[in-house]
Amino acid sequence: MVQVNPGFIDQVGQAKTFNAAACMNCGVCSAVCPMGIELLPRKLFRYVLLGMEDKVRDNSATIYSCLLCKMCEVNCPAGVHIAENVRTLRYYLYK
Ligand code: SF4
Ligand code: SF4
Repeated sequence: MVQVNPGFIDQVGQAKTFNAAACMNCGVCSAVCPMGIELLPRKLFRYVLLGMEDKVRDNSATIYSCLLCKMCEVNCPAGVHIAENVRTLRYYLYK
């Protein structure tokens, strides 16, 4: 069963650095990622926006495997701050 935490996006977004609403699920980020990370941001960021905290925690390893190289970010047609979002999620998980 999936548990939804409606306050999750507020908790993650406290630093005002989480920005994923503009994502149009085009897949460019996954295609250029040197780590082959398919989950970020198309699914994982969506989990955050939907308050699916358990799903985000279940994928902590993926969040920590990101190199923060920004290859995805510079190629994103929607200007999503992907690396900054990953940093914000890491901070939240660490807490
Ligand atoms: S490249 Fe940008 S718009 Fe496309 S799926 Fe990735 S984050 Fe979303
Ligand atoms: S910042 Fe992370 S998700 Fe983006 S291309 Fe680099 S390793 Fe992949």
